[in-house]
Amino acid sequence: MTATIPTMPAPPPVVALFISDLHLQATHPRTTQAFLDFLQGQATRAQQLYLLGDLFEYWAGDDDLETPYNRQIAEAIRQVSDAGVQVFWIAGNRDFLVGDTFALAAGLTLLPDPSVINVAGRRIALAHGDAQCTDDLAYMQFRQQVRQPQWQQQFLALPLAQRKPIIAGVRKESQEEQRHKSMEIMDVNGAAVNALFDKTATNILIHGHTHRPARHKSGNDDTARIRYVLPDWEYDVRTQRGGWIAIDADGAIRRFGFDGQELID
Ligand code: MN
Repeated sequence: MTATIPTMPAPPPVVALFISDLHLQATHPRTTQAFLDFLQGQATRAQQLYLLGDLFEYWAGDDDLETPYNRQIAEAIRQVSDAGVQVFWIAGNRDFLVGDTFALAAGLTLLPDPSVINVAGRRIALAHGDAQCTDDLAYMQFRQQVRQPQWQQQFLALPLAQRKPIIAGVRKESQEEQRHKSMEIMDVNGAAVNALFDKTATNILIHGHTHRPARHKSGNDDTARIRYVLPDWEYDVRTQRGGWIAIDADGAIRRFGFDGQELID
């Protein structure tokens, strides 16, 4: 007689992965390595990978692909894509100057902000999140200016060596300003989030930008709206941060922390 050995059912495969706000830069080698490990591990086993903005600390234009660090990141993403994973990109406020040349080099598809996707039977809105921070009037004004094609054309026409110090100046200025802004001003605005749910006819939203990872649920169960916020990544400090969201083939949406452990809401 053979004993029946109970076996755990295999977990459903991961269909889609979502990450944002890695702020990749050569001076943060552990964060960079965590991203490269994530690409070779988790991402290569998924069907789709969504990069939801601020992958880079800044992007000065696709001609900056000549920088070895940027080339290395693009090629690492390209390997995932070559392995058969569909890779998608929504720009953040730091890397909105990414264009078709980068997309081709990284083997990814650029998506508008916001976008709606259908994954594992779920209809989901995706955004970076900065467009919903409507309480920050100064930023919204800046955003409106720099997202105009004409502004971008003029800026990208400057030599790369001129663009970089301009971007550094803007980053420094924004860091100064943020010290004087309240935590509420730098979070998403509730009405702007509801407007996004209305406009996209969805009840699930995944975004980043605010660096406040969470699962926010509002409304009754039958009409509930759920907003998932992705974490930023920082492995070059003592208290590390990072993580991702996964959607399984059965439609389950799960959050994971910097160490790969699932976060239970
Ligand atoms: Mn951002």
